[in-house]
Amino acid sequence: MRSITTIDLQYAHRFYRFEGEAQYLHGHTGVLTIEVEDSVSINPGVNMVFPCNEIHKTAWDVLQNFDHALILREDDPLLPAILSVYEKQGIKDGHPRNTMKGKSFKTELATAYPDCRLVVTKETMTVEGMIKIVYDLLKDKLNIAKLTFKSGANTASQEYEVVKTIDRCPLCGIALDEEGRCQKCGYRKK
Ligand SMILES: [Zn+2]
Ligand SMILES: [Zn+2]
Repeated sequence: MRSITTIDLQYAHRFYRFEGEAQYLHGHTGVLTIEVEDSVSINPGVNMVFPCNEIHKTAWDVLQNFDHALILREDDPLLPAILSVYEKQGIKDGHPRNTMKGKSFKTELATAYPDCRLVVTKETMTVEGMIKIVYDLLKDKLNIAKLTFKSGANTASQEYEVVKTIDRCPLCGIALDEEGRCQKCGYRKK
């Protein structure tokens, strides 16, 4: 069985060196659907695979970096141009009103700069590209069985084989920390 959560992400991007209108900067509301599977332990009493609000929280923690952000490929000449404007304006390293910031991250596929609401990607950020980035960011935190990303007229999805088990709280279903504790209800694994 699966628990499913969706996340809305509003972002701006463009396809650098693409022969079409998408080579111009434009925006989207993208919808990411995360399907989490755990065949081993749907705990009696909890009766859910994974609390959907907890999937949302875990994913939002890193993915909010994409929301109200500009996403550009690392070789896009718009990148230095925009950074130089932000620099001159004094907003490159943050602004007091820029408060909805996520934790910065760096993977092989993407780097987030929350202070200036920018994500720099290795590959063009198509819906397929986004799925690769998201899986990389969340695969150790959630047992992801499927990701779907819809943006405008484009949708891509990818299924994954769930092989590992994540130790979870028998009382509320969320993942336990390294010491076997539940951050939410205080349960401790014996
Ligand atoms: Zn687009
Ligand atoms: Zn708990």
